[in-house]
Amino acid sequence: MRSRKSVLLRTFFAFALFAALILSVGGFLPGNAISADAAPSRTGNTTAAGSASAASARTSTTSATETLYVHFIDVGQGDATLILCGEHAMLIDAGDNSKGTALQLYLTKQGVKKLDYLVLTHPDADHIGGADVVLTKFDVGTVFLSDYPEDTKTYQDVLDALKAKHMRSSMPEPGDSYTLGSAAFTILAPLEDYDNANDSSIALMLRHGGSSFLFTGDCGEEAEKDLTASGQSLSADVYQVGHHGSRYSSSQAFMNAVSPTWAVISCGEDNSYGHPAAEVLNRFRSMGIKVFRTDEQGSIIAVSDGKEISWSCAPSQTWKAGEPTKSSTDQPKKSTAASAVSGSTTTQSAFSGSGTSAAQPAPAAEENDKEKTASATQTPTGDSASSGGQAFATGSSPGAGLYIGNKNNGKLHLSSCHKLPLEKNQAVFNTREEAVAAGYDDPCKLCNP
Ligand SMILES: [Zn+2]
Ligand SMILES: [Zn+2]
Repeated sequence: MRSRKSVLLRTFFAFALFAALILSVGGFLPGNAISADAAPSRTGNTTAAGSASAASARTSTTSATETLYVHFIDVGQGDATLILCGEHAMLIDAGDNSKGTALQLYLTKQGVKKLDYLVLTHPDADHIGGADVVLTKFDVGTVFLSDYPEDTKTYQDVLDALKAKHMRSSMPEPGDSYTLGSAAFTILAPLEDYDNANDSSIALMLRHGGSSFLFTGDCGEEAEKDLTASGQSLSADVYQVGHHGSRYSSSQAFMNAVSPTWAVISCGEDNSYGHPAAEVLNRFRSMGIKVFRTDEQGSIIAVSDGKEISWSCAPSQTWKAGEPTKSSTDQPKKSTAASAVSGSTTTQSAFSGSGTSAAQPAPAAEENDKEKTASATQTPTGDSASSGGQAFATGSSPGAGLYIGNKNNGKLHLSSCHKLPLEKNQAVFNTREEAVAAGYDDPCKLCNP
């Protein structure tokens, strides 16, 4: 009897597997409202080391009774991810200032009234810009905010919104865990005090049954190195790509540790930073990682039943890298380039509310003596030569070296910024275009280059 039963069972499972295959080839699964690119198992597209650790990580979690929905919301250039599990909701980042209302509508449409958690990975405007609206319009339980204060109006707006609700943000510690219905998340980073906002991002691993999702904000190489060295399990089914696909994140060593099946890039169409970078896309492609991207596909939804993850659309097949903008849209900023931050205490007025406006107050420009010699050695090529000429025409001293890149993290500053990297880590450029083309694609939010 027993053996006959097991034969029957085996036959049944074989048939079920066959049926599932047929259905998934047809592009849908029954009972699933969202058309699915159902890929229930991680197949041989990962490295051996990655697969081994991934398997152990995914067997370590508890049962998931409620369905988990992860909405990678299209907020243009920025991040905002809504996570729903049963009656519980959580938002990781809130997009740029201009996206607050759109984000509010999106959440309302999903039936969200209360957020158990609002995680603001780091205080850059493309992550916390819409947070003041979210805080004002929704009931929010716990607010996690990276302990890296920025001297911006955007940051102050968030603090003001918290104050108005008599709330405080807190900084979670790596290792802390929190539940969200039948899902749970664990804080992984920041592990150090970094000298830049991006590396100070709060990183976390969300688990739901055997499904796992990794979020790293805008962590760059340094933070990734520390994460890998920390011994924490980084293996995840889904990786929200760090720093919108910048070349300074998602290093090979880090990706070997994460070894995801899917990667989701949240970035703006034709963004000026050249996100996502070609080398990052190539890395994903060579590892067999399937890529989703909000710039091409709009908002993307992942659905987990605790065992399998299905998606609201098929992965992107374009493998199209972003290109740093060489257009004239940056030109107006040049004339006031050295003036965004005055040396005085009037920090508030130096920042535009949206973080994107080119209209800056124009206090007296500071001298850039130390960059003059360095910039003279720059040899602009191609089209940058002509745009460089235009930039010189507006300044009092030709070749002033108005832009400083940080060789460590790709951050771009005005030479007048008071948070410049050490001289040995500086790359000096005459124009913004040259700097961005060289990969310095992350503008400092203090000087707003
Ligand atoms: Zn950032
Ligand atoms: Zn960002």
